[in-house]
Amino acid sequence: MKINDLEKLKNEGADALPSEERRRFLRFGLAVTGVFVGGSVLSLTSARNAESAMGPVPAAGSFPYSPHYTMVMRQNRCIDCERCMEACVKTNSVPSYGYRTTILQQEREIGKGEKERVFMPVLCNHCNRPPCVRVCPTTATYKDKKNGIVMMDYKRCIGCKTCMAACPYNARYFKEENRAVDKCNFCFDTRLSKGESKTACAAACPAGVRIFGDLTDYNSEAYKLIHKPEKVVWVLRPETGAMPNVFYMND
Ligand code: SF4
Ligand code: SF4
Repeated sequence: MKINDLEKLKNEGADALPSEERRRFLRFGLAVTGVFVGGSVLSLTSARNAESAMGPVPAAGSFPYSPHYTMVMRQNRCIDCERCMEACVKTNSVPSYGYRTTILQQEREIGKGEKERVFMPVLCNHCNRPPCVRVCPTTATYKDKKNGIVMMDYKRCIGCKTCMAACPYNARYFKEENRAVDKCNFCFDTRLSKGESKTACAAACPAGVRIFGDLTDYNSEAYKLIHKPEKVVWVLRPETGAMPNVFYMND
């Protein structure tokens, strides 16, 4: 497909996607407040709340993928040491100007002039309804039918950057070396397909923040964490309807 042909394609809903201004905020980490305010907190112990925020939550035994990869972030444990970012850069050849995962931060008042800093690790959410896949004109971005990872076929990417505009999480960047868009793929090519059970960031985290796992494995730590009774679990920006597979909690 040629660049000019893009204009002839049917609009797949990019109009409804977040404004450039919101994307810029996210890029500079200033949208953390917006993320907190905009993201409704939900508890997976309440099916009604969970469904309103994430869309239908698959019932036990009926997940769309097997394995159904997920990451749970125990957010309050993050100390901003950036070892996850370093491991990711090394493992996945991420250039200095790009990122596959990063840490956003927020300073908030905790009373009497006291402030605390909160760190939020972010990466591609491997959405169940990924806007990036919907808008890609060449199917270079696709959702793996077996494991649900949102993948990139670099050879098919024409660098139109439509997917970058469509992602509500600013999870993609253009990699000059490949002349293609790049993003997290849960280390599929570099680790999972070679028999490793964890992503590089999860393996490197000294604080147990990033718990990578398979939601269809009810004995996995990831499954158990997000189904802990009384624990509040949330996803980022549920209002987009993208249905992320990265879950946040404090514990
Ligand atoms: S977070 Fe962004 S890049 Fe990742 S699957 Fe969702 S829309 Fe696509
Ligand atoms: S390695 Fe873990 S604790 Fe350190 S910044 Fe990354 S997520 Fe946070």
